[in-house]
Amino acid sequence: MTHKVLIIGAGPAGYTAALYAARANLEPIMFEGATPGGQLMITTDVENYPGFPQALTGPELMQRFREQAARFGTQIVTDVITRVDFAQRPFRVWDSHDKEYTAHAVIIATGATAQWLGLPSEERLQGRGVSACATCDGFFFRGKRLAVVGGGDTAMEEALFLANLASHVTVIHRRDTLRASKIMQQRAFEHPKISFEWSSVIEEILGQDTVTGIRLRQVITDEVQELPLEGVFVAIGHKPSTQIFEGQLELDPAGYIKTHTGTRTSVEGVFAAGDVQDHIYRQAVTAAGTGCMAAIDAERWLAGMLPEESKASVS
Ligand code: NDP
Repeated sequence: MTHKVLIIGAGPAGYTAALYAARANLEPIMFEGATPGGQLMITTDVENYPGFPQALTGPELMQRFREQAARFGTQIVTDVITRVDFAQRPFRVWDSHDKEYTAHAVIIATGATAQWLGLPSEERLQGRGVSACATCDGFFFRGKRLAVVGGGDTAMEEALFLANLASHVTVIHRRDTLRASKIMQQRAFEHPKISFEWSSVIEEILGQDTVTGIRLRQVITDEVQELPLEGVFVAIGHKPSTQIFEGQLELDPAGYIKTHTGTRTSVEGVFAAGDVQDHIYRQAVTAAGTGCMAAIDAERWLAGMLPEESKASVS
């Protein structure tokens, strides 16, 4: 059986695409992968998702998304897609058991993952003082002392955003020059609440239940110092989950799927939504928005290419 639309990935973008596709009678089949819910599954309180004036946790929010997508008939498969063939129609994808599925349209919402330092203490304190998203979690750190790790544009942006909330922000960078654009560097250098620890790496994030400080090592002098603070924002880059699309779709140099005119990719009939195609906004609400766009784009595209009897109900 060839499906009308197949959705790969189950974060805010994937679930929203499924909800809209199901309500448009596209009978979507969705592969939710090994970690359904995506990055929100490691988020504690979500206070910035519109419509939820009381905070709810990331996993609770994703459970609601999932229920809503399922309520309208999305067929959810708990498996990963391991390879795809977009070179011929219908498109073909294979799950981890090498079972083949075919579809006229595909929506990719496989997201991106934040890069982490790889310290056990960092993993243990995630959501309890360690974060990779200032826009999501900065509000919880009003008046606190914070560290931002990284020397790119994201790190400068996070430091500048957090400096408006925190009492002080220390940027920790492993080299003595920043990779960030000159204008972002200048803004950070000029901010009275931002200071820099150069050529330094975090050896350990301190604290049992919440962050109480960091142990830093200066890589040139080998000098070790402890900085007392309440939050650590890791901003050392994100990695889009696009390995299986290499050679199939046009990707940008950082590996994100290139989209144009809404959510269209370089292959007609394949659409991309959420963080897998967005390295700028990276919010649950923007991912959900592009998921909705992808379903509408797919619906309209299918309406033009499918035979009359199996057309979507275009409203
Ligand atoms: P980048 O790859 O540009 O920077 C990552 C930073 O993290 C680098 O300074 C790197 O150090 C450091 N780093 C990497 N791994 C480690 C590690 N294990 N330990 C310590 N430090 C580490 O990623 P960004 O997320 O900052 O930016 C991604 C892209 O998005 C860039 O093209 C950027 O320009 C763009 N962007 C643009 C914005 C804007 O225009 N407003 C805002 C945000 C991002 P090192 O320098 O030594 O390699």
